[in-house]
Amino acid sequence: MKVNKSIGCTVNECKYHAKNESFCSLDHINVVKHTNRATNPEATDCGSFETE
Ligand code: SF4
Repeated sequence: MKVNKSIGCTVNECKYHAKNESFCSLDHINVVKHTNRATNPEATDCGSFETE
């Protein structure tokens, strides 16, 4: 599996996670927010996540 060392990620439940290393395997991801105006890290998330 490809490892994109520009996108660190600890969500190893995601089907795009590089598994052996804490990185994403996608070329790019979409980061999304859950509120109109994000004011803390918890308000943001990876919109490219998919379950395995
Ligand atoms: S798609 Fe998002 S959640 Fe999934 S491995 Fe990549 S960065 Fe992590």
